[in-house]
Amino acid sequence: MYDPLELARAVERQVVSGDRRKYYRFRPSRYYGGIYTADAVGCNLRCIFCWSYRYASDLTQGKFYGSHEVAKILTEGARRRGYKRVRISGAEPTIGKEHLISVLREVPPDLHFILETNGILIDRNYASELSGFKNLHVRVSLKGTNPEEFSRLTGARPEFFWSQIEGVRNLVEAGVSVHVSAVVSFTSKDRLVRLLGILTNLSEELVESFEPEIIVLYEGVKRRLYSNNIFPKIALTPEGKLITRDGDLTK
Ligand code: SF4
Repeated sequence: MYDPLELARAVERQVVSGDRRKYYRFRPSRYYGGIYTADAVGCNLRCIFCWSYRYASDLTQGKFYGSHEVAKILTEGARRRGYKRVRISGAEPTIGKEHLISVLREVPPDLHFILETNGILIDRNYASELSGFKNLHVRVSLKGTNPEEFSRLTGARPEFFWSQIEGVRNLVEAGVSVHVSAVVSFTSKDRLVRLLGILTNLSEELVESFEPEIIVLYEGVKRRLYSNNIFPKIALTPEGKLITRDGDLTK
């Protein structure tokens, strides 16, 4: 089992160089009612259900872009399509803090910036720096609903589940706009209720805005899951059809 903080440092050495960070593509996306998206390379987790596993773990992918260039591509892409939102997705955007903060500084304040993160690297200092951006909203995606699920799904040490929760706490305390999602494809009702109890203690608004995340069974995801004997209870097909244990998830 690995330590996601150590992995983050090792990944950062390869995907961040001065003000530049590696990205593998820039694209329009239909999510959030239309959002121009930069997909980064390199993550500090290795989730077995990750749709961009190759780009999260193979650090030879992509090209280096400076913060000014990233902000420019995002802004121009959003303007061209009449979008009000931009984001960094694809891997873990909080790796390379200086680069991310510089991108945030360069994105015009009328564009809403969505930061999608696993939250592990967001300590108090990081949250405090993020709190300076009023056009920022953070979506913390929890990888499972408790330490055991987190470890089974990511291969990381179980105690780092709590680092995700700490990341959320730091954002709430710093006054950053935040909501939490959690992968619920592998959990039970009881475990989900316990997670919601933990979130209630941080802020009741986190429960109201909670987003259940259902994994998508792309071919590569299915192969990784099934070869590790991990079977979701609920999932989506790439075409968007919901399937449950009554369907073919145990095959
Ligand atoms: S945290 Fe996100 S990008 Fe990283 S491996 Fe997990 S699902 Fe993929």
